[in-house]
Amino acid sequence: MTDTAPITCDLCVIGSGMAGMAAALFAVNRGLSTVLVGRTGEIIFATGFLDLMGVHPLEAGTLWNDPWAAIAAVVKDLPQHPYARLSTATIRAAFEEVLAFFEAQGLSYSGFPDRNAAVLTSVGTVKLTYRVPLTMWSGVAARQHKAACLLVDIQGLKGFSTHQIRATLGGAWPNLRTVKVVFPGTHPEGDVFPERLARSLETAGSRANWAAVLEPHIQGAAAIGVPAILGISRSAEVMRDLEKRLGCPVFEIPTMPPGVTGLRMKEAFERGLAGRKTGLLLENKVFRATVHRNSGFLLEAGSMEPDRTVQAAAVLLATGRFMGGGLQADRHGLRESIFNLPVHQPERRDDWHREDFLDRRGHPVNRAGLQTDEFFRPLDAVGRPVHPRLFAAGSILAHQDWIRMKCGSGLAFSTAYAAVENVKAELQKG
Ligand SMILES: Cc1cc2nc3c(=O)[nH]c(=O)nc-3n(C[C@H](O)[C@H](O)[C@H](O)COP(=O)(O)OP(=O)(O)OC[C@H]3O[C@@H](n4cnc5c(N)ncnc54)[C@H](O)[C@@H]3O)c2cc1C
Repeated sequence: MTDTAPITCDLCVIGSGMAGMAAALFAVNRGLSTVLVGRTGEIIFATGFLDLMGVHPLEAGTLWNDPWAAIAAVVKDLPQHPYARLSTATIRAAFEEVLAFFEAQGLSYSGFPDRNAAVLTSVGTVKLTYRVPLTMWSGVAARQHKAACLLVDIQGLKGFSTHQIRATLGGAWPNLRTVKVVFPGTHPEGDVFPERLARSLETAGSRANWAAVLEPHIQGAAAIGVPAILGISRSAEVMRDLEKRLGCPVFEIPTMPPGVTGLRMKEAFERGLAGRKTGLLLENKVFRATVHRNSGFLLEAGSMEPDRTVQAAAVLLATGRFMGGGLQADRHGLRESIFNLPVHQPERRDDWHREDFLDRRGHPVNRAGLQTDEFFRPLDAVGRPVHPRLFAAGSILAHQDWIRMKCGSGLAFSTAYAAVENVKAELQKG
């Protein structure tokens, strides 16, 4: 425990992934004094696509063009899924608030009003998602119309191959040409990294040089697909400038993670939250928590060891699953890492995984997590809320498999939104 005075706040959000960042945004927007404590987690691996609901039921692998119809089916078939606790209006409101915030931070999104869009992945497969970074949007129409496009590869960029993309697409998009170019200022024999290229393209000089390299290869292409390197903090602006120089639509294709798409979201959240006077303890971890029934929570945080305390009236746990560190596995089973909350899990360790690793139904361990009441408060062993002002959101919640169901961001935003609304209501009770 430290001897410095605690930072006091209405709400401490633990976890700085998609759910934690969104929760902090919703909380400051509702006038709650908010401290966010978190380490960089899965968010930097994200493709930038914002999934709402794409696949259900998993065993049939049914893909849905209408994510709202998909959610309705999930709620009917899996009444314990976190979406079953949310109204459509809440899910829409959560998306709208995050997208407006991203837009103000220079990270623009596009999409069909009520339909998933089919987007290209880094390996040339096609995936359905709800909202698409504006810098990738021309690719959706180009693919739909099988437009004659040029796909650009960059010498030395690992894990991105336009040949592979074309091969995976097979004959489904015949009018594709590919070219590999040396990015200006890089060595043809060396490795190049998306973040460095993206930061370089934020300067007009670098864009002019790259446009000069690309221009001779256009040869009537209707659009140009490039790896996701069009800037970090002003990606739409970088794209528009490049389009103007080339006289042709340009679209990004995600690179292998970690690329710049996750970094854009992370930096947009951090920039915007700092501007809203959120208390940000980034690259910090909560090591221990003491719970008082009436006065709230005392959290010991720090980067390597606890060196400060946060006194919060309420806590929102958004610490993710195994990769984030919210859930941990030991020989006794799965446990929640800060409060030692009961974790819903298969009874026996042998039941965590199915025999076939690639089983379409996924593995029972991936639906493990915290069970909550209708207000997103984790439950104790007998099914009562552990504490009236302890809430949870995001992938730490039980009864969902966001990776396979393609609902990662939707689940993170909407459960964070509902939990924060409930935090506010609970705090107003005094
Ligand atoms: C490779 C990859 C690709 C993805 N692609 C997509 C996509 O295309 N579309 C989509 O919608 N979603 C995608 N996602 C999912 C999305 O990025 C989120 O990971 C997911 O929605 C879960 O978010 P979360 O905030 O609940 O958990 P996490 O992202 O896991 O965040 C948990 C956070 O809590 C922190 N934490 C844990 N313990 C502590 C502690 N004691 N103290 C402080 N902090 C702590 C972790 O460091 C981490 O920052 C992808 C994820 C990955 C990994």
